[in-house]
Amino acid sequence: MNHPETYRNRKIVVLGLARSGVSVAKVFHSLGADVVVNDKKERELCPEADELTALGISVLCGYHPDDLVTAETALLVKNPGIPYTTGPIQRALELGVEVVTEVEVAYWLSPAPIIGITGSNGKTTTTTWLGELLAAADLNPIVAGNIGTPLCEAAVAAKEDNWIVAELSSFQLKGTAAFRPSVALLLNVVETHLDYHGGMEDYIASKAKLFANQTERDIAVLNWDDAVCREIAAGLHSRVLPFSLYERLSQGVCVEPPYSKDGGEEADRHIVWRQEDGTEKVIVPVSELGIPGRHNTANALAAISAALSAGAAPEQLEGVLRGFKGVEHRLEYTTEVNGVKYYNDSKATNPTATTMSVGSLSAPIVLIAGGLDRGSDYMELLPLFRDRLKGLVTLGETRSKLAGVAELAGLQHVRLVEPAKDAESTLREAVRHASELAEPGDIVLLSPACASWDMFQSYEQRGRIFKDSAHTL
Ligand code: ADP
Repeated sequence: MNHPETYRNRKIVVLGLARSGVSVAKVFHSLGADVVVNDKKERELCPEADELTALGISVLCGYHPDDLVTAETALLVKNPGIPYTTGPIQRALELGVEVVTEVEVAYWLSPAPIIGITGSNGKTTTTTWLGELLAAADLNPIVAGNIGTPLCEAAVAAKEDNWIVAELSSFQLKGTAAFRPSVALLLNVVETHLDYHGGMEDYIASKAKLFANQTERDIAVLNWDDAVCREIAAGLHSRVLPFSLYERLSQGVCVEPPYSKDGGEEADRHIVWRQEDGTEKVIVPVSELGIPGRHNTANALAAISAALSAGAAPEQLEGVLRGFKGVEHRLEYTTEVNGVKYYNDSKATNPTATTMSVGSLSAPIVLIAGGLDRGSDYMELLPLFRDRLKGLVTLGETRSKLAGVAELAGLQHVRLVEPAKDAESTLREAVRHASELAEPGDIVLLSPACASWDMFQSYEQRGRIFKDSAHTL
């Protein structure tokens, strides 16, 4: 493993000027490296550049210079979202220059152990919940990564008695090398981000990098209900702590009695931790968890498993398991208008997430869905549309595809919202349509099953406009 200090007086290229790029650049600059930061965006769109140039760091905006990466470049740190086909990255790879993401650098720097959390769905909820659980157990967590504070910033601030709780995307993990979290948690793997990864194989391989350097001193927390997680578990060197909604585990964290895949929620269930020596602890009744839905029970199992792995005592966890209020834009109750409840689930950016959210609500649902087209056919939504929806209002690039699935599902109330003068007006129009289709006692749910970037800057912007539209109906 390279300590960042070995880069003193050597050339480092930081590609991409988001918060994580700024934090990496500052770290290497403070260690005496010769840092060049480059972003394709025009200078006016890179306000972060000012802070770096004030420190004497060279920042090049608006293009990728041909001579950015040379044989003298010691390391290229890329923003996770930048594809590997980008010129400077290709050049670095040709020249044998190491290419990593900020996660790798944070690992080099951190005196604190790291809990790495990844998965297709549930990362932010689980990371946030885990942060609260560790705080309640006096384990001094620093929550960072994809979720807010850049990991390098957390790593610089951390002491040995902290735990860094890191939400990690597949993009970030793809750019790791020596990264070795003490606790590695994989929530689930479903088809998503295929445009970036080019296929499931690369996506799964990126997720599996979370465990690649773990040894028997480390713990791998894995979802036993997920076939890909089980497959990954088979090849690991780490100690595996499984969790399950559907299986009574002889070792691990599970629900008892277990759920059945097609059964309801009615039974009196508890979360139980069972150890290898046969000891067993009841942690909390499922019905008393702070947030509803079976997927959130899975997130609770995962967060509990990771907290226990970090050394929390089961009795320290109960308060936070009951009191947790969830995270904004995740099945967030917004308001009630004319007897109709509105929920903002803008973060549901793939069909699985939408399916989970719809499944957590019991009233008839008018769904608002659609967004960036990543090339799927959305046929997996057909049973949901057929069995669970009262109506569908669809917008964005995928609107025709979703309307097509709804038609096949025999859904009667379908409204296709054509683009209005701007994205905000289009979404407001969609909310208005949904309010017309819904009757007292129903739910209007924004759970798009698609990313937001065809129309909005972010899912947060989409969610805020939805909430405002509902409040002002
Ligand atoms: P991520 O950070 O991985 O995108 P979030 O915690 O932000 O995940 O949740 C995003 C959405 O994904 C939620 O609104 C919900 O619809 C869905 N979701 C959350 N947890 C799970 C899970 N364990 N399994 C499937 N879907 C989930």
